[in-house]
Amino acid sequence: MKVLIVGSGGREHALAWKCAQAARVDEVLVAPGNPGTAAEPKVRNVEVAADDIAGLVRLAQTEEVDLTIIGPEAPLVAGVVDSFRQRGLKCFGPTRKPAQLEGSKAFSKEFLKRHGIPSAAYATFTRDNFDPSYVQKQRTPIVVKASGLAAGKGVVIVDSIAEAISTARAMFDGQFGEAGEQVVIEEFLEGEEASFIVMADGKNILPFASSQDHKRRDDGDHGPNTGGMGAYSPAPVVTPAMHARIMKQVIEPTIRGLEKDGMPYTGFLYAGIMVAPDGTPNVLEFNCRLGDPETQPILMRLQSDLTELCEAALDGRLDRMKAKWDPRAAVGVVLAAGGYPDTVRKGDVIDGLDAAAKLGGKVFQAGTAFDEQGQIVTNGGRVLCAVGLGDNVREAQREAYVIADAIHWSGIQYRRDIGYRAIERERAAARAGK
Ligand code: AMP
Repeated sequence: MKVLIVGSGGREHALAWKCAQAARVDEVLVAPGNPGTAAEPKVRNVEVAADDIAGLVRLAQTEEVDLTIIGPEAPLVAGVVDSFRQRGLKCFGPTRKPAQLEGSKAFSKEFLKRHGIPSAAYATFTRDNFDPSYVQKQRTPIVVKASGLAAGKGVVIVDSIAEAISTARAMFDGQFGEAGEQVVIEEFLEGEEASFIVMADGKNILPFASSQDHKRRDDGDHGPNTGGMGAYSPAPVVTPAMHARIMKQVIEPTIRGLEKDGMPYTGFLYAGIMVAPDGTPNVLEFNCRLGDPETQPILMRLQSDLTELCEAALDGRLDRMKAKWDPRAAVGVVLAAGGYPDTVRKGDVIDGLDAAAKLGGKVFQAGTAFDEQGQIVTNGGRVLCAVGLGDNVREAQREAYVIADAIHWSGIQYRRDIGYRAIERERAAARAGK
């Protein structure tokens, strides 16, 4: 069996690594991949860009690919799955219409409201109908979001009404390009965040292990927002009772609602949840694909064959599948380039990858490249993700940092506290148990 993974980040490295482990998989192609995927057994990089839909279709046809899994959101929102399906090619991910859950926050807020799924109160504006008096009536802090895809940068939390109005205007003026043609202004929600990821086949739902990422750059969840500085699985905030509640109040009505609306959802669905102090699971956002870096610790724990799960979903028989998880916890620490999330320096030689590979766990590559001498150098903001496993989050964190500390380049930065909320819960549970 031949599998194609589309994308080039840490998530795609983890997907390619996981798929290549299946005995029935002969080869995994990654378009375009990175030096990390190039080094995996059974894996081959192919120079086709993740947003070159025609090129991807051609690749799948000429290489006789049996299953394609799409990593990033942009090709999904642009309709890559529709193009594959039209040619009878198996491609795991949502089609263009339901992918709007991520592609348009205006669409997703309207969908949530219509189907009675808990989420922040909001209003949507364009430049032409923007009503500052609506904003003046709201409380602060308040959240201003560019509706379209903005590479994780289109959400701004502000402390004053004046700032909210000027932020919305900057979005209308093109700060995030077309993504800011519509702007969602919503209530600020308090609580603890959790990521909830499932596979869906249009009707049936297979929940994945819980996880949580850290979006802020600095320790203690301070500093600027980033694409994610680390993640862990499981997330103790998602207790069995909370799991059941999120399934019932969020995931099931979403999959049912999309089916009813004539756009059945097949693919990974990621709900970013804010668990309110009263336990209400409010939806912050939907992603129509796996999260990065959550995928790296989650797939470290997945013991089932991911290709079998994807094929079952494409055949509409997810109800007969079960995912088997390693009971151990996994913690992934993102090693970022200096300056991230602003402009970063590229081309610094990465030392210690060979030593790190001998320390257990796994290092997934993201923003890396080969230089002219064939050395692996930095080539982006989030460069690597070091994942450790352990009997609990504390132990997994310890292993992740042993690996991270073995790696170095000029300007490297990473948080020292990934998983701290889960570790606090583990400590509290241990104290309560004594
Ligand atoms: P999003 O891309 O919509 O998930 O937003 C990115 C991050 O901004 C989330 O992970 C939250 O930390 C934060 N955020 C988004 N919406 C809200 C909200 N309504 N209240 C509080 N924080 C929010």
